[in-house]
Amino acid sequence: MPKRVFTFFLIAAVLSLVPALLPAQEKASSTAKCAHCGKALTEYYAPAKNAAGKEVPLCTKCSMLPRCDYCQLPSEVKTDGGDSLCRDCAKDCIKDKAEAEKVMKDVRQVLNTKFKMTTKHKIIYEIGNRKDLNLEADGEHNELGWFDPKTIRNKPQYTIRILTGLPRDVFRSVGAHELAHDWMNEELPHLMDKPEIREGFAEFVAWSFSKAEGNKRMMDYTERRTDDVYGGGFRKVSAMMGDAKTASEWKNVLLKEFPLKGKKSGK
Ligand SMILES: [Zn+2]
Ligand SMILES: [Zn+2]
Ligand SMILES: [Zn+2]
Repeated sequence: MPKRVFTFFLIAAVLSLVPALLPAQEKASSTAKCAHCGKALTEYYAPAKNAAGKEVPLCTKCSMLPRCDYCQLPSEVKTDGGDSLCRDCAKDCIKDKAEAEKVMKDVRQVLNTKFKMTTKHKIIYEIGNRKDLNLEADGEHNELGWFDPKTIRNKPQYTIRILTGLPRDVFRSVGAHELAHDWMNEELPHLMDKPEIREGFAEFVAWSFSKAEGNKRMMDYTERRTDDVYGGGFRKVSAMMGDAKTASEWKNVLLKEFPLKGKKSGK
């Protein structure tokens, strides 16, 4: 998943010259306080969404500060994974291997319970910084997780790596995305070399998972992605799925759309 790039800074800087015309600014009520510095808002303020997706006010000064990578509040904490987080997002982030394993087991269980999406093999979970995990960061695709199937001495080995310091709900959503790769690799291996479908399906699973968890912000996060592979892939796969609600139904839809070679009408 890529980090969000906020152009808000520039917009706020330009528009604050004409506060009365700024649509994103609201007139403060007499008791409102800035959600970041706590100062009473005397004039106009900029609304920003916090980690819970709730709109809170920021004073003009705070609205100019660099923002959290996962919500719209000013960032205060730099994680070992290289993310910038606001106070709230930093409160409950995953940076411990044992905790990461526990959470991943739970996410795997939820995918099984809610969608009957499951694989039987053991998965190794790793957590670390971008360099340790060999996560790809080419500017456009700033990966937060990685599914790595390998064959070692003729035995398959499956590893999922996740960037350290992600807020818990972001971590869970990334975990669901990577587990979707694990499932596809097992059930529909012929689709693993179609980036748009591979990533689009993983995003669709992460979105469905966030929906099942009632996690509006991670649903929004997935919906707002604009790049072709992840954002475009998500929209394409979502549109395909219609009423399909379980992994076996998803598999049928994908098989209909992308038949296995050799099974196409005898030709
Ligand atoms: Zn402030
Ligand atoms: Zn935040
Ligand atoms: Zn992926």
